[in-house]
Amino acid sequence: MQRVIIVGGGPAGMFAAYELLGKADITIIDKGKDITKRYCPMERKRVCAKCNVCDIMCGIGGAGTFSDGTLNLRPDIGGDLNEFTHDDELSWALVDYVDSIYVKFGAPEKNKNGNEREIEELKRKAASVGARFIDIPQRHIGTDYAPALIKRFKDFLEEAHFIVNTEVTDIIAENNRCAGVKLADGRELKSDFVLVAPGRVGADFVDKIVEKHGIKAEHAPIDVGVRIEVPAIVMDPITTINRDPKFHIMTKSYDDFVRTFCTNEKGFVVKEDYGEFIGVNGHGMKDKFSENTNFAFIDRIKLTEPLENTTRYGISIAKLATTIGGGKPIVQRMGDLRRGRRSTSAKIESNTVKPTLKDFTAGDVSMALPHRIVVDILEGLDVLDKIIPGVAADSTLIYAPEIKFYARRFVVDDNLETSIENLFAAGDGSGLSRDMINASATGVLAARGILRRMGYGTK
Ligand SMILES: Cc1cc2nc3c(=O)[nH]c(=O)nc-3n(C[C@H](O)[C@H](O)[C@H](O)COP(=O)(O)OP(=O)(O)OC[C@H]3O[C@@H](n4cnc5c(N)ncnc54)[C@H](O)[C@@H]3O)c2cc1C
Repeated sequence: MQRVIIVGGGPAGMFAAYELLGKADITIIDKGKDITKRYCPMERKRVCAKCNVCDIMCGIGGAGTFSDGTLNLRPDIGGDLNEFTHDDELSWALVDYVDSIYVKFGAPEKNKNGNEREIEELKRKAASVGARFIDIPQRHIGTDYAPALIKRFKDFLEEAHFIVNTEVTDIIAENNRCAGVKLADGRELKSDFVLVAPGRVGADFVDKIVEKHGIKAEHAPIDVGVRIEVPAIVMDPITTINRDPKFHIMTKSYDDFVRTFCTNEKGFVVKEDYGEFIGVNGHGMKDKFSENTNFAFIDRIKLTEPLENTTRYGISIAKLATTIGGGKPIVQRMGDLRRGRRSTSAKIESNTVKPTLKDFTAGDVSMALPHRIVVDILEGLDVLDKIIPGVAADSTLIYAPEIKFYARRFVVDDNLETSIENLFAAGDGSGLSRDMINASATGVLAARGILRRMGYGTK
């Protein structure tokens, strides 16, 4: 059997392994821990163990393991599968296929979304203020159930070799052909094919191999913004129609694209630790609830010359925000941000909306994020408030920074093979996806590409 090394045991890597089962000798290498060894950040406050990798982002199951586990069942949300399939029907079929595997390992029933009339009404309301509501079929696994699903998935992949707590530092490439990987401990592992699926946390690794081996890649846009937290009752009329509602808005002053993303109904805001800087994210549990609902409100940024490197730009924003927050996420009341005043701890304490994240610095978001992004957020929230009254109330909490890095985007062909022969790419870290369903789907596509190269006829 030909040997395939998969860098990263997240959704992209695991779905690729699923597809390769029985047809290849598979090794999955992850710098994080095995699924049963990862700490749930909701149970333990400290997430970064002494191994210097973050348990939220790293380990078998990847970032999806402790995610809210909302499966957005669309090929054009969290990526665009048509770019590779060139066929809408094939893309939807791929989403259905990936979804069926999540269901096989325990994903629950689809969410009961609103009826057609309610959805149409919401679309109309959004359109009337210049926004767009995107209707998405969804499943909600829940942060507290996702690890068990991943464990069943991993057990199913028993014939694959899992190497955990091991970082891949480089690929072995000679004459524009990939022949394996180099590990942090100095070992070299040879293989016929390598699939790079290192997630957002692997952005540095991707940058490094792109530079060193001259792999064709481009800088993908990044999303920079904040996480909004409001009383759940404010969002209820919308979250009963769609648990993770997506609104797209073009802002007035700059004509920038802002959107809602990753809504956690009655959920919790969490801190993400990237080592040199911090960020925020959200969790939604199946059995544990808060009185608030949170969602990301983010601005899409693409840069042109002289600085195209969006990752570097995003990191510098995140570092500034981390410095201003003294190493903790900044929290500010919407009213204070609007009036150009810093929120103090006393103000946050007496605020009617209580923060679900306890480890924060009461501060001033406008000191942490570029002016243009702050303007976009304020204008965008005012539009959203017309669709969801109360969302831009003075008491609304704003957490910063929320940054979605998509790293370099490998230039790939329809098989997801890079400009280096036998080197394939999938998932968020390769810039090819931005959510679990799309990451998983690109894993399947890359595996099928590898199988084709092995001589298997696949769809
Ligand atoms: C808190 C949180 C909530 C989220 N909520 C949702 C949600 O509700 N719905 C949704 O669809 N998406 C959600 N996401 C995003 C989702 O988790 C990702 O889109 C998805 O996990 C991407 O899959 P991936 O396989 O590309 O990468 P990842 O899941 O990031 O996995 C990559 C793996 O590669 C490993 N790795 C990286 N570099 C190396 C290296 N050099 N050597 C060895 N191993 C390496 C990492 O340790 C990691 O385990 C959330 C993310 C977070 C962090």
